[in-house]
Amino acid sequence: MTRTDELKEVRDEVWALKESPLYAYRMAEGNYPVLGEGNHDANIMFVGEAPGRNEAKTGRPFCGAAGKLLDELLAGIGIPRAEVYITNIVKDRPPENRDPFPDEIALYGPYLDRQIAIIQPKVLAALGRFSASYIFDLLHIPETRPISKTHGEVFDGTTSYGPVKFVPLYHPAAAIYNQQLKETLKKDFEVLKQFK
Ligand code: URA
Repeated sequence: MTRTDELKEVRDEVWALKESPLYAYRMAEGNYPVLGEGNHDANIMFVGEAPGRNEAKTGRPFCGAAGKLLDELLAGIGIPRAEVYITNIVKDRPPENRDPFPDEIALYGPYLDRQIAIIQPKVLAALGRFSASYIFDLLHIPETRPISKTHGEVFDGTTSYGPVKFVPLYHPAAAIYNQQLKETLKKDFEVLKQFK
């Protein structure tokens, strides 16, 4: 099977995930689950939190205001969006964009783990504290400091397919109206250039 075929299997399973606590909301709102998009052979894989309104309406990750900033940050380091892979931990939109609950992260996490094992990126970049903490655990990196201390640092992790680098980053949504955080994100993104 090709990577694309394997990713389609993950997609089909998430589409059929009726046991998700977010499934009823997906159906009631006419929302789509958001699996991810981009290069299936990407060196850089971004992991956000959960789809927002625009994402759930279109089925595409980071296509709203936070996505616009993500596009700007990628353009700033000269990496086309189509070259990377972009996904989230939680694949369905939580009501009112609330933070994902631990049981939702536990339910959707294994689908993210499979996407990572299929794409085998050189570097994982977490967007926000939820994905940062999930990936620290996944890679067995014993890190307990908050994202305000770890952002922009490059960590070494191990996966089933070999070593991987990990970079926690602030969530772009937090920087939309915060120029200082935006500057920090711009600077932190520079570290991703080496993995292009
Ligand atoms: N925020 C996220 O974490 N993910 C998206 O896809 C959009 C906004």
